[in-house]
Amino acid sequence: MRDANPQTIYLKDYTVPEYLIHSVALNFDLDDENTRVSSRLTLSRNPASQSKDTALTLSGENMKLIRINLDDGTNPSGADLHLPEGLWAGQPRVNDLSKDQYLQTQDALIINQVPQQQRFVLTIENSINPKANTALEGLYLSSGMLCTQCEAEGFRKITYFLDRPDVMTLFTTTLVGDKDRYPVLLSNGNKVAQGELPDNRHWVTWEDPFNKPCYLFALVAGQLECVEDRFTTQSGRDIDLQIFVEKHDVDKCDHAMQSLKNAMLWDEQVYGREYDLDLYMIVAVSHFNMGAMENKGLNVFNTKFVLARPDTATDSDYEHIEGVIGHEYFHNWTGNRITCRDWFQLSLKEGFTVFRDQEFTGDRASKAVKRIEDVNMLRTRQFAEDAGPLAHPIRPDAYIEINNFYTLTVYEKGAEVVRMIHTLVGTDGFRKGSDLYFERHDGQAVTCDDFVNAMEAANNIDLSQFRRWYAQAGTPVLTVQQHYDPSAQTLTLTLSQNCPPTPGQALKEPLHIPVTVGLLNKDGSVAPCKLQAGGETSPKAPTVGSRPGRINPPLQSLLQLTQSEQVFTFENLVEQPVVSILRGFSAPVKLVMERSLDELAFLLSYDSDTFNRWEAGQQLAGQIISGLIADWQSGRDMHVSPIMVAAIQQVLEQPWDDLSYFSLLLSLPSETYLAEQMQVVDVEAIHAAREFVLLTLAEQLEAKFQALYRNNHRDESGQFDSGAIGRRRIKNTCLSYLSKLENKHIYQLSQQQFNQAKNMTDQMAALTVIVNNPHPAKQQCLDSFYHQWQAEALVIDKWFALQASSSMPEAFATVQALMQHPAFDLKNPNRVRSLIGAFSQSNPLHFHAANGQGYRFLADQIIALNTLNPQIASRMVGALTSWRRFDEGRQALIKTQLERIMTTEAISKDVYEVASKSLAQQA
Ligand SMILES: [Zn+2]
Repeated sequence: MRDANPQTIYLKDYTVPEYLIHSVALNFDLDDENTRVSSRLTLSRNPASQSKDTALTLSGENMKLIRINLDDGTNPSGADLHLPEGLWAGQPRVNDLSKDQYLQTQDALIINQVPQQQRFVLTIENSINPKANTALEGLYLSSGMLCTQCEAEGFRKITYFLDRPDVMTLFTTTLVGDKDRYPVLLSNGNKVAQGELPDNRHWVTWEDPFNKPCYLFALVAGQLECVEDRFTTQSGRDIDLQIFVEKHDVDKCDHAMQSLKNAMLWDEQVYGREYDLDLYMIVAVSHFNMGAMENKGLNVFNTKFVLARPDTATDSDYEHIEGVIGHEYFHNWTGNRITCRDWFQLSLKEGFTVFRDQEFTGDRASKAVKRIEDVNMLRTRQFAEDAGPLAHPIRPDAYIEINNFYTLTVYEKGAEVVRMIHTLVGTDGFRKGSDLYFERHDGQAVTCDDFVNAMEAANNIDLSQFRRWYAQAGTPVLTVQQHYDPSAQTLTLTLSQNCPPTPGQALKEPLHIPVTVGLLNKDGSVAPCKLQAGGETSPKAPTVGSRPGRINPPLQSLLQLTQSEQVFTFENLVEQPVVSILRGFSAPVKLVMERSLDELAFLLSYDSDTFNRWEAGQQLAGQIISGLIADWQSGRDMHVSPIMVAAIQQVLEQPWDDLSYFSLLLSLPSETYLAEQMQVVDVEAIHAAREFVLLTLAEQLEAKFQALYRNNHRDESGQFDSGAIGRRRIKNTCLSYLSKLENKHIYQLSQQQFNQAKNMTDQMAALTVIVNNPHPAKQQCLDSFYHQWQAEALVIDKWFALQASSSMPEAFATVQALMQHPAFDLKNPNRVRSLIGAFSQSNPLHFHAANGQGYRFLADQIIALNTLNPQIASRMVGALTSWRRFDEGRQALIKTQLERIMTTEAISKDVYEVASKSLAQQA
């Protein structure tokens, strides 16, 4: 189907479009298997184009062309398609093009001659088959409803078009369909007309008054129920809010609706941005490749990020829903009103919008917890991507399939880069910069540079070196050395940076890195953090003001590292302070600094920076576990240092307001994170060592975990407020520790919680413990859970994922058996992610079994998915890309499977790109 050697597209080859589209009138005659599309384009030559080519090339794939009509204004054509009933006459019209006037290829339509001097109207009629579209790009069928996904390049599977984000145009869309089959007909913008037709058919016309690229186009048609609410903007305009779901999900929309209103208010308060249409619609669909899509005025969401009821969704589901609803809403300004010039600029809209949604969630819940969770994910998953064969800058310079670049690097590291600008210019400066960005570029398709330019201009600073963050891949290593001089009462910090080579980038230049630092006295109090005049080598580094705090405002400094190595000297320090560096994780780097266990335990007790306090505990546990890994590998007995037990005991004995933060302080680094720290990953040793620490802590602190469990266990149904969430979180953390004791009492406790739970958080937490233990009632609990929730697809996803990520010996056999389960469906991305994805990405112990069965299994599924859904298939290859991190035996086994995947017949561009890059020689 596709080229054996797909083509690479380069940023340096960008040229402006040769033609512009001024408006498009789309008509859809909807049918599950044969939808007819008519597209009436008003075009003209782009005066800015330097190209000598006068032919008009439109992108298009997988469709049947019916007719092309070119009206240059000289010949009245009768191709006026305003009225739906006049659409499908089927008669050739004046100005219809004959076969020799155009060329149709596999992915394009080339019209040899079009007017160069004046506007012209091109009408194209084609048909598509939504039911056969299992790739879920373009128009497709999801559990009986028609819906679209056009980002990045799905619109070209609907009709021929200039499918690129810098072609922005006005859309008018008419949908025609059977009244019973498609009672609800939605598209972008405002509903401007509707009517009835013979044969039980009806039509609706939508008009979007804002110019937009075609990737933001959407249509939805089907049997849907609508939940409605209203929001009044800061300028007093009333906006109708509508969430469309299937009938049985109407009672699961309250939280999504509230989240939307929270997001609308937050964007007005923090960014001064108001919503612009009169109507905001969200549709939840069960078959979706991504999380959600920000189509103008008509967001299409994966059901996972809309539907929630306390008994069906966990606290973290609730938080994710609010975050994703916020994210898509915020795109209305950062993505839709101002969009990307080309797909290499994807981080322009995603990095900024992720930063916005992170801040929104932090403001809504706990800033400390949100920051830790985001950094945890970045360091576990994005750092791995940045160190592997697919490493790329947040603004990539080449791709084969753009769908492969919806990555953690573009999104999460992209958000960190925006956050660093925020740190450098401060909250007020950032707002000035974003105001200027909106003012300069509203209605345009722009680049990452335009964003940085606005931040620079509004704050009168120089970010020229900072721009390297957009172009350079890889995670920099920040090394810190300290020297205290008692006679001078000074502390000298030597900071150096180094970034390892990544594919295509052997040599790296120094980056502009903001490093926030604070100092502590030996008694835990805050030490002055004053830079000596001339005490650092960079003339630019200012001391920033203190952060607001309840008792003593902690003094801290912002160091700006711009060279390979720089020295900073702090004065007036009567005793040697303890250094708290990279506070709030002020830059996405790997920090290397020698620390004793005692020093880490001290910071875990006293650091006033909530991120670094947690980080000290993670490093403490990490050092201890890595020692135990070495013991396990050489067959020595394992012993947990008493410093670790005492440090956790200290945390347990303190009073805490933020119970979610408290439970994060008690959590050990994940197995995946620990693997990232090893030269050669040893999944068995990691699992054994980590479990041993958990067991030791459970044994030695059992009474405290028991008491904490009892004190926080309430017989309550789920409330999404921070008090209740915190109680559940700390209680379930304790349950998880206690479960390591594997005794009858604990089995009873978990089963009791499972049976009596009134909310999904508690029920899932109990079932997780049961599934990951040799619990005698395991199968019975799994069966009863399935029976209870079989009508709730999202809960059944959890049931699959839980078993797929189990650490118990039967996990792989269970996964194989579940592939045959009637509820499993390879065509549903949520199911694929919950079974195949969870096993390959969240079960390192069993996926990396030494006999290679996990790898073979995954390759089988990727080959099957390659034809059905290339995007999802390519995502699944991700679990194999880090093969060079393992021992020789596993390397050979994974490599064999990657090579096997490469021989797949009709391999998709998506899978080809990830598999071939994984196998390529490293830089
Ligand atoms: Zn986004």
